[in-house]
Amino acid sequence: MSDLIVGIDLGTTNSEVAAYLGGQVRVLGPGEDKMLPSCVGLSPADELLVGAAARNQHLVYPERTVRSIKRKMGSSETVSLGDKTFTPQEISALILRELAEWARRELGQPVERAVITVPAYFSDAQRNATREAGMVAGLEVVRILNEPTAASLAYGFGDGAPRTVLIYDLGGGTFDVSIVTMEGDVTEVLASHGNNRLGGDDFDDLLLERLEREFHERHGIWLRDGHRAARARLWWAAEAAKMKLSFEPHVQVREEALVLHQGKPLHLDLEVSRAEYEKMILPLVESTLDSVSKALQDAGKKPGELDAILLVGGSTRTPLVARLLQERVGLEPRQDVHPDLCVALGAGVLASRLAGHDIERVLVDVSPYSFGPSYLGERGGVSYPYCYHPIIRRNTPLPVTRADSYYTTYPGQTEVDIQIFQGDDEDALKNVLVGDFRVGGLKPTEDPNEVMCRMSLDLDGILHVTAIEKISGKSKHVTIANALQAKSEAEIAAARKRIQDLFAPREEPFEEPAGELEEPEGEEAGDEVPALSPAWPEMRHEAVDLIQRLRRLFDRMHAEDKEEALALQEAIESAVAGHDQKALAAAVGSLKELLFFVEGS
Ligand code: AMP
Repeated sequence: MSDLIVGIDLGTTNSEVAAYLGGQVRVLGPGEDKMLPSCVGLSPADELLVGAAARNQHLVYPERTVRSIKRKMGSSETVSLGDKTFTPQEISALILRELAEWARRELGQPVERAVITVPAYFSDAQRNATREAGMVAGLEVVRILNEPTAASLAYGFGDGAPRTVLIYDLGGGTFDVSIVTMEGDVTEVLASHGNNRLGGDDFDDLLLERLEREFHERHGIWLRDGHRAARARLWWAAEAAKMKLSFEPHVQVREEALVLHQGKPLHLDLEVSRAEYEKMILPLVESTLDSVSKALQDAGKKPGELDAILLVGGSTRTPLVARLLQERVGLEPRQDVHPDLCVALGAGVLASRLAGHDIERVLVDVSPYSFGPSYLGERGGVSYPYCYHPIIRRNTPLPVTRADSYYTTYPGQTEVDIQIFQGDDEDALKNVLVGDFRVGGLKPTEDPNEVMCRMSLDLDGILHVTAIEKISGKSKHVTIANALQAKSEAEIAAARKRIQDLFAPREEPFEEPAGELEEPEGEEAGDEVPALSPAWPEMRHEAVDLIQRLRRLFDRMHAEDKEEALALQEAIESAVAGHDQKALAAAVGSLKELLFFVEGS
């Protein structure tokens, strides 16, 4: 027998196989995503289909296709494919056999032993059925491993040190949250909660409903009334749109000739924004957060006792998930290991260790820094041009592309300056400027004009930034080399100084003529910026601090002091907006005096 052992994630929606190859644990298989849809089918010609081919025929031949067999493991239910009947173990065995074949082809040797993962809540009957499926597939199942434990292993939490980890796993059709403690070789799942009928498929359904409603409103036809093929197309479009919305602020869904009505092709064309989509799915995501609270309660753990939150499952790419989790638990969730492959990789770590390889964790290329543009927003009640939140967050696996929308700030504005920063502070000035460019030739509009900023970071550390004017589709692009290189203290100080100088009022208006969005001039940060008075930034910071102090004291103030304070706040805001340094100094001085007086009284 060979010493080869593979790790297998036998998932509800997709399955994967991982093994030790070239000194590290890798997911194996053909194609880019290395995921095998957990679908088995019989074609109308009785040909056995496993994976993508079965998934593709599901909408047209549901009676000849089986999906989500994992839900039936451990039960005595059988499933039919055409006129043949199968047990859940047999269907799962067909999936396992295909994965073992993928691994054999890539490793060049037969695969006979495997570690297979199961959800933490699986009963003995379900675990035994999984073992049996392995045996039917011709595999010796060396270990049945809990999925959350596998995820923890992928992240290197099985290194012996005591750790408590929360694993949030949102896949296509199931949701699980587990609290796991690991110490030495002892791993314990302290609590596990979830909903085995909730997942990304429900998000697809909500979007599909939205698309169907739109089609009905436009053409008076419900696709659910007998338009099977059109509905299938829309279902794919809904899932594709959902995935895109994880990385872009809006998506255009365009499906041509969905239905032929009285000889005329009827199309669907609409835009869905991430904000609208997030509203649709919010109740579902909220329900997962209830499970998170229950799991913590059952485990007897407070959020502060967690060492990490790990995101597992394809649907955790939905930005709302990480955002709400961080808000509620107060810890930034980690998603540096590919969320779809994390469990398979963790199974691969254990399999490799059992086969005698010295493996700590999975290796991934991630961005060590966050990147984003500064924008005009509000801080401490006053408008502030150096607000910041990252578009690409640190620890995101590479390569990565993400986009977000920004808006012009006054009617008729035809140009914007875009400054790209590296860092996490919500004050861009506390981050490092890595590049800047000006976009001219925007359409002068009455309402705020949307400019999308798309950033792509590749494995070589090259950052591509594109600004796209939404109404015209025109774009401007710059490339920033060495974005991942750590900056020296001197470089950081120089970049900060350059940026701080931007605070002074501009002596000259922008000279760039309106017209076409042009090509970038400079490839990197370094172009000169207007020289400015150094006192301005400090004074603005002081104004922001004073207004924050004012908010804290406001309730304790007498009516006439309140009135004066509000007038001074207004004076500060208009001085800042008008870059009027003298007026700002006067208002700051008066507000300081007033607060001094109020604090002392
Ligand atoms: P899993 O069961 O972990 O393979 O996850 C599959 C689910 O993840 C499916 O519902 C996919 O549509 C969903 N998914 C995959 N990629 C994304 C993405 N970029 N954004 C949101 N959901 C995704």
